[in-house]
Amino acid sequence: MIKAYKCPMCGEFEVDRKLSEGELENCPKCNNKVKRVWTPIPSIWKTSGAFGKSTSSTSSKTSEG
Ligand SMILES: [Zn+2]
Repeated sequence: MIKAYKCPMCGEFEVDRKLSEGELENCPKCNNKVKRVWTPIPSIWKTSGAFGKSTSSTSSKTSEG
């Protein structure tokens, strides 16, 4: 799958990573440490708030090494 990363030297780039390969940690060009770039969530996920729920728990995992 195509994943986007940001390198402090090269800027943002995309690489084709297999799931078994895990996350890319270093830039293939300059070997700098890269950060995962998450594509913005489309507005279809936004709720209008018609349900009136006050709290919603989002389970987000952060795997910062
Ligand atoms: Zn780089």
